[in-house]
Amino acid sequence: MPIYNCHMHIFTIEHVPNQFLPLRITRLMRNPFLRLPLRFLLANMNPFSNRDLFHRYSNFVRVSYKKSQKDVFKLVRSYYPLDTKFIVLPMDMEFMGAGKVEKDIYEQHKELAELRDQYPEQIIPFAAIDPRRNDVVKMLAALVEKDRFKGVKLYPPLGYRLDNEKLYEVYEYSQRNNIPIMVHCSRGGIKHKDISTNLANSYADPDNCKRILKEFPNLRFCLGHFGGDKEWKKYLNDPWDESSPDESKSWLSKILDLMKSGNYPNLYADISYTIFSFEKNSKLLKVLLEDPKVRSQVLFGSDFYMVEQEKFQERRLSIELRAVIGEKFFKEIAEINPKKYLGTSSSP
Ligand SMILES: [Zn+2]
Repeated sequence: MPIYNCHMHIFTIEHVPNQFLPLRITRLMRNPFLRLPLRFLLANMNPFSNRDLFHRYSNFVRVSYKKSQKDVFKLVRSYYPLDTKFIVLPMDMEFMGAGKVEKDIYEQHKELAELRDQYPEQIIPFAAIDPRRNDVVKMLAALVEKDRFKGVKLYPPLGYRLDNEKLYEVYEYSQRNNIPIMVHCSRGGIKHKDISTNLANSYADPDNCKRILKEFPNLRFCLGHFGGDKEWKKYLNDPWDESSPDESKSWLSKILDLMKSGNYPNLYADISYTIFSFEKNSKLLKVLLEDPKVRSQVLFGSDFYMVEQEKFQERRLSIELRAVIGEKFFKEIAEINPKKYLGTSSSP
């Protein structure tokens, strides 16, 4: 049986706004002799600045500069068994206040559809949806009905809330058409240029999904990154008491509460990005998966290529994860649950 990597990216520098990377870095990157040392520098930037973001920059330089989506896909594919299936998540970054994109989202989706036609058994394309785009529901319908896209990707820190009116139309369409939603759920990372980090983080708070899940009980909804590495750290290090207000709770414990409540059977969380802090988080994951309710709602994903480190690449990640959590749990999060999430199996 093939495994599923439920969260990965293959978009390239052509799809990100021209001010997404600091201009100076973009310019320096054009010089092939500087690219390598620059990569090293970015990857090892001091922790006082936004390390997470620099890490992403350095991966952009390394993986996607002068490459096509196909090149990037071929790289990630080479780390996995040949029959592995990948949920590919495009990004619509035109409204994040960081300038123009060389190739717009229509072109990014078109390239992805063409690539899926070359790898029909491997690529499961999702549509990047931004409620600020005109006719976004129409765009989604065309992608689903004509181009056979299988899900929706949302990234609220780019500057919108999950209860955005337009998104309600997207949820309604998705529920009606058996289309799952993937939403970014971690602190830090990419955000709209003009909003504060706090505000961007509040857009990604797992609590925001409660109302949506109540109103759309058949909509399948995945919280990407399971709250994120920082919140897993908080879960391990900071005490909280059950009766205290929600603010003191880590996002991880918020998500676990939602899962264990039994009220949100269509809620999922993927371990992408977060699991790359492997030493700490793989053991915690193993313990969390002992709970059958939690175990039935977790998806395997990697966030390739946002996190890839040369010393800890995708192949090593998926193999070591299998070893730590065991074959039985791995099968659940990488085979059984992804099919439920995608709506291709109805097994409980
Ligand atoms: Zn991602």
